[in-house]
Amino acid sequence: MIYKRSSALFAEAQRFIPGGVNSPVRAFKAVGGDPIFVKEAKGAYLYDEDGNKFIDYIASWGPLILGHAYEPVINAVIEKAKKGTSFGMPTEVETQLAQLAVSMVPNIDKIRFVNSGTEACMSAVRLARGFSGKDKIIKFAGCYHGHSDSFLIQAGSGAVTFGSPNSPGVTKGTAKDTLLAMYNNLESVQSLVVANKGEIAAIIIEPVAGNMGCIIPQESFIKGLRELCTQEGILLIFDEVMTGFRLARGGAQEVLGVDADIVTFGKVIGGGLPVGAFAAKDEIMSYLAPDGPVYQAGTLSGNPLAMSAGLAMLTELNNNPDIFRSLADKTEYLGKGMAKVLQEHNVPFQKNRFGSMISFHFTDEPVVDFESSVKGNNDTFKKYFHGMLNQGVYLPPSAFESYFLNDALSYEDLDNTIKALSNIVEDLK
Ligand SMILES: *Cc1c(COP(=O)(O)O)cnc(C)c1O
Repeated sequence: MIYKRSSALFAEAQRFIPGGVNSPVRAFKAVGGDPIFVKEAKGAYLYDEDGNKFIDYIASWGPLILGHAYEPVINAVIEKAKKGTSFGMPTEVETQLAQLAVSMVPNIDKIRFVNSGTEACMSAVRLARGFSGKDKIIKFAGCYHGHSDSFLIQAGSGAVTFGSPNSPGVTKGTAKDTLLAMYNNLESVQSLVVANKGEIAAIIIEPVAGNMGCIIPQESFIKGLRELCTQEGILLIFDEVMTGFRLARGGAQEVLGVDADIVTFGKVIGGGLPVGAFAAKDEIMSYLAPDGPVYQAGTLSGNPLAMSAGLAMLTELNNNPDIFRSLADKTEYLGKGMAKVLQEHNVPFQKNRFGSMISFHFTDEPVVDFESSVKGNNDTFKKYFHGMLNQGVYLPPSAFESYFLNDALSYEDLDNTIKALSNIVEDLK
């Protein structure tokens, strides 16, 4: 494949935008080479500026669960745009999306919309602190909750890829209120809770982790976390920015059978436009301004274009819950097919899958947390990434990301992806 125009556009972008991108993982730093500039996309396919076509396994990092340029979403946005794009005043569509989201997700009464997953998690923690009157939070190594200060402590994906797990610019004062535990290790949480008795406002977690590859929570771990939080009066925050409206109508709460106290959303809930949200029972949400004292606001929050995209997307998912099954089946099929190829060629790997989230790790050892995830062979990953790219398959350009399947992918696409892997597998040794 030729990437001439993409490379030229990247050179130009670097003159005016730091690193040429507006979000670091896009820059291909972890895998080398120049990023591909997209011209357009439809369904499961991306078309770049050089005229190359790719089967897309990122789908904008998750939001486009029904494929690119999905007609009902696009039409909803176009119709809305004709009536004005932003008012800074209430609109009916905000309530429509809120009502639908509350009806789909267990254990929430109210939801507040923001513009990104980062904002959702940042606000959820503020709300938890305001509600509980405590300052400290526990997060897990390798979990990503957006780029706000409190979370940039061993933050997974982008932050790990760039070797800055603890970003400069985060003050010591902020960092000291974030305590770090190990995923799938309840004892690591218990000892923090004991050492900081009565000081912890919340524990925030990706209920199925997707930012150190896909990591499945052990049942005893996630249920134990719930019990511990209830016992100690700590709020449990599920960051469902990735899993929400992807694993099931009710997200990970529904699939795992565990209730969170506050839930955050992003990605799918915006249907491809910038939307985040956080939600909880009335008792907690009533602490939020203007009802309560915890301040949180946004000029473009609840933007009508974004709300109508989200409403069209959630309506489709709510009316066709079989999509979640179909997506999980496709992901299982792809995973099995790719695993077979790797096995036949004796490439050491681990396959982690949960619903429509999947990742391959080039290591002999099970990948269950951050520590085991970083043991993957990054040289093999680079060859794998570029090999697949040249075969017309676009995977996340970092070993610490889950792939996001979308329902526009056909079984023929999946077979072609497996075939692409068999074409390059010898190079992975
Ligand atoms: C993507 C992501 C975020 C951040 O969302 P942005 O919209 O990129 O700010 C937060 N948490 C999780 C689990 C995510 O996957």
